[in-house]
Amino acid sequence: MTQRFDLAVVGAGIVGLAAALAGARRGLRVAVIDRDTQANGASVRNFGFITVSGQERASMWARARRTRDVWCEVAAAAGIPLVHTGLWMIVRRPESVAVLREFLATEMGAGCRLLSPAQARGRCPQLAAPQLSAVLESTVEVRVESREAIPRLAAWLARAHGVTFMRSTAVERIEPPAVHTSRGVVHANRVAVCPGDDFNTLYAERLGGYALTRCKLQMLRLASPGFRLPGALMSDLGLGRYLGYAELPAARALKARLAEEQPEQLENGVHLIVVQSADGSLVVGDSHHYAPTPDPFAHEAVDRLILDEFRAALGVEPPPTIERWVGTYASAGDRHVLIDAPQPGVRVAIITTGAGASTGFAVGEELIASLIDTGDAAA
Ligand SMILES: Cc1cc2nc3c(=O)[nH]c(=O)nc-3n(C[C@H](O)[C@H](O)[C@H](O)COP(=O)(O)OP(=O)(O)OC[C@H]3O[C@@H](n4cnc5c(N)ncnc54)[C@H](O)[C@@H]3O)c2cc1C
Repeated sequence: MTQRFDLAVVGAGIVGLAAALAGARRGLRVAVIDRDTQANGASVRNFGFITVSGQERASMWARARRTRDVWCEVAAAAGIPLVHTGLWMIVRRPESVAVLREFLATEMGAGCRLLSPAQARGRCPQLAAPQLSAVLESTVEVRVESREAIPRLAAWLARAHGVTFMRSTAVERIEPPAVHTSRGVVHANRVAVCPGDDFNTLYAERLGGYALTRCKLQMLRLASPGFRLPGALMSDLGLGRYLGYAELPAARALKARLAEEQPEQLENGVHLIVVQSADGSLVVGDSHHYAPTPDPFAHEAVDRLILDEFRAALGVEPPPTIERWVGTYASAGDRHVLIDAPQPGVRVAIITTGAGASTGFAVGEELIASLIDTGDAAA
């Protein structure tokens, strides 16, 4: 029997759930369709780190601030713990301190301040790196435990907003208002396609016109170090990679020095993020390798580069590794977000950089606004 909805969302990752929330808040009757039985994509493989500081100036920074605010609202309503707040950029080079000072002088420095090594060690004595030069303390980040947060968000959307979830159901074809699935036809005047890094199933020809590829990341979970981190930790390498810092003029000198001193990390797209879970264990990453179909293997040499940076930045031996995994996300050299309109009443939304947890709710709102505010719907 055909089921009828105002909005069908393809994909139950963070972008699909964000679109479902935005649609439900606009009064639409929403169905979310996903081919997997439970969340399994990038949205549960990430750090759960909602990063504001360091997002590209202007649009991504604004999206991140909006998304952080929605996470805070939703977390309280859906029973999703904010595992920790804040970010410490722990840096060990004078060129990095210059970038941090320049960052603080911009509008993006709101909620951030510079700590001296003594101030930082006063708060977290375990930071033992002898070269520690300064810490940027940002108070504007939050972190969720994605593997728990995404299922709780979906359960809350069903409970509080009446969203229908159709799992183990692949969407094969869309002929608005008919959405053809592996388990029958769903009828919806509006369709939001949020396929993550699958560009080959729906609208493959159209998406082929964009310069899309996929990025593979290696991730580790380490045993608890026996102390609480003051927030998420990042290091000098992050200043060379995150565009909110890396596009500042002062970053040129830092990038030149990193290229000389850490070429292997740069070749493998390694930079350091360390976040802590409720049980004290640490999620540590990551690396970046780009290919249309990246290999599925976690390479020991890459893990070693990540752990070398952990050792250098924190000045402590990494605790034992207790879990390893890889993840992939969509990537494009020329944009961070793609919202396309392949047919009347249909939008495809793909976040083409590793920032879906940080910008997803804002992108979901943009997607729904572009469907509703333009009056675009299938006949
Ligand atoms: C290791 C790793 C670490 C990261 N760390 C961070 C971080 O700390 N902070 C941050 O902001 N971002 C981070 N990211 C990026 C972020 O996780 C992604 O940008 C985001 O999860 C993408 O969400 P999505 O909903 O588009 O994709 P996904 O989570 O991959 O969801 C897409 C869903 O669509 C479904 N689907 C696709 N096609 C169909 C179809 N035809 N029919 C039915 N279902 C379909 C899939 O089954 C899947 O469930 C990280 C990513 C990775 C991999």
